[in-house]
Amino acid sequence: MTRESLLELATTFRDAAAEDLRRAETADDVHAVTLRAHARLNGLEAQLFADHKVRVDCKAGCGTCCHLGKIDARAHEIFALADWITRNFSGEDRAAALARAQAHAAAVAPLTLEQHLCTVRACPLLRNMSCSAHPARPGVCRIGHSTDVRICERAFQNPDDLAAKGGSHAESKLAMTVASDGTSFAFLEAGLDKTVYDLGSALAEALGDPTAQARWLAGERAFSKAAIAKQEPAANE
Ligand code: SF4
Repeated sequence: MTRESLLELATTFRDAAAEDLRRAETADDVHAVTLRAHARLNGLEAQLFADHKVRVDCKAGCGTCCHLGKIDARAHEIFALADWITRNFSGEDRAAALARAQAHAAAVAPLTLEQHLCTVRACPLLRNMSCSAHPARPGVCRIGHSTDVRICERAFQNPDDLAAKGGSHAESKLAMTVASDGTSFAFLEAGLDKTVYDLGSALAEALGDPTAQARWLAGERAFSKAAIAKQEPAANE
């Protein structure tokens, strides 16, 4: 895709989310904006894969990519995910997900960026090698479908070899990342937290701290410093 077409894609996703956000009156409405943006991203993927004749090699029950390295997300995605979990999990399952997310947060907090990138650790929401919150999973989990699961398995077996990661259709992944960033930009323009968070660590706070969502909606930083995703300097300004 050209630079211009990527820019147009980001603008389309930004404008659609911004229009939805203008009409949102409640926290539930804001979460619905995120879920609609996720649906648009799914639609974009379907269109890109058809255009490029991409053959997806992912299968239900694989879960390999849900173990690999860092999984980052924005606050609007994490709160929509936490809300979906609260609505759809039993009290017991929600408490278990919170405990797994808290264990994840404690385990990854001391890691350097490189150590985290090389980590093999199941996402707190992975159950029986499937996503237990699949309808509300964040954008990053919608973007990287693999065209060759052998590449994912190689990465799983060689976590220190960052070059072993990959397997997604590069052009589609770029377009979807740009589109997802367009959505995030609408939330930023609405005055909401622009920080990129570690999914598991921030989810622990979204599920465990009843004040976090109100803080976020008031325009403050949603989660603690410890939950911020480790990134290259200046990437998470
Ligand atoms: S949220 Fe779901 S799809 Fe994403 S990494 Fe976790 S288990 Fe996998």
